[in-house]
Amino acid sequence: MKTAALILAAGRGLRAPGPLPKPYAPLAGDTVIGRTVAVLLAHPAIDAVQVVIAAADAQHYATAVATPDPRLLPPVTGGASRQQSALMGLIALEPRAPDQVLIHDAARPFVTADIIDRVLAALAQGPAAIAALPVTDSLKRADADRRVAADVDRNDLWRAQTPQGFQFAPILAAHRAAAAAGRTEMTDDAQVAQWAGLAVALVPGAEQNRKLTTAEDLVMANSQALIDVRTGLGFDVHRLVAGDHVWLCGVRLAHTHGLEGHSDADVALHALTDALLGAVGEADIGQLFPNTDPRWKGAPSHLFVSEAVRRVRLCPAQVMNVDITLVCEAPRIGPYRDAMRQRIAELLELEVGRVGLKATTTETLGFTGRREGIAALATATVVRMPRTQS
Ligand code: MG
Repeated sequence: MKTAALILAAGRGLRAPGPLPKPYAPLAGDTVIGRTVAVLLAHPAIDAVQVVIAAADAQHYATAVATPDPRLLPPVTGGASRQQSALMGLIALEPRAPDQVLIHDAARPFVTADIIDRVLAALAQGPAAIAALPVTDSLKRADADRRVAADVDRNDLWRAQTPQGFQFAPILAAHRAAAAAGRTEMTDDAQVAQWAGLAVALVPGAEQNRKLTTAEDLVMANSQALIDVRTGLGFDVHRLVAGDHVWLCGVRLAHTHGLEGHSDADVALHALTDALLGAVGEADIGQLFPNTDPRWKGAPSHLFVSEAVRRVRLCPAQVMNVDITLVCEAPRIGPYRDAMRQRIAELLELEVGRVGLKATTTETLGFTGRREGIAALATATVVRMPRTQS
């Protein structure tokens, strides 16, 4: 085996109380560790992923990481310190004889393929390479009264991140030697390598690859870094036939013709329903409300929108905005626009500012131009909520 990844999730570093140990905390629809495992498995150079967990977390792990990918090995239990957990993970990988290993913190879910590439490229040139960032803040050394005692030259100072990559045999030997020497509290694997005399190269990490340490970090990560935004698109057409009114956007308009359809034929609400369903990957309106089902004969189309909204919420997701374009020569939409936006805002329980509505003609071209039918397009943008952990 060429390259293994070792993810350390055995630590108990959460500095603010929460219902779950840090690696299992919700993160943008996933968990911290679920995201970290997924990123490493997604990298084409990684042949196996070994996770080290705390003994008490086996059930949390099974719930959070459920991928069938055979490259994900069964988790092993860690030790009392980070260093000991790393050694146990390396020992678990030893029978697979990887050439090299990337050791990574479970609490850095935002590692990118670029960073992994840089570590692997440097590892081809030497026994060890780690992701790190130059220190950019001014550094002060404090005295016992927390006053500045000295300035520290930040040139040549780097902040170590992970992944930290090593040729496998030398880092395993270094860890065993450190343990045998009674050194068990080194804070990263580069320190173990350095202690054993291995040269450690520095390659650029990224601010994005930060470690989620506090509950506040998790809140920030959930609110900013990985907002799971989804967009759905809907399109519908109904034929104009004899009649005296049309329903558009849930509003009844007197007209020289009617719209043909099994339901009330509200072409705009049908496009909107499909946009909402599409945003959360659900089946379309025709499958959910077939026009062969007598229940929907003459049905008001707001029922379809409400069902789509229910499915969005079940996802769980929240509608952020919708936008609709009606395509017709007549009726004129302008006088009804406010009422239509208001009605849609009610149906979606949104403020009216999040409902867009325009109408256009096709300059008398095509079926809409010939007044044979009315078309509608809609988009819906939703944000997927983090799934609550049971
Ligand atoms: Mg329709």
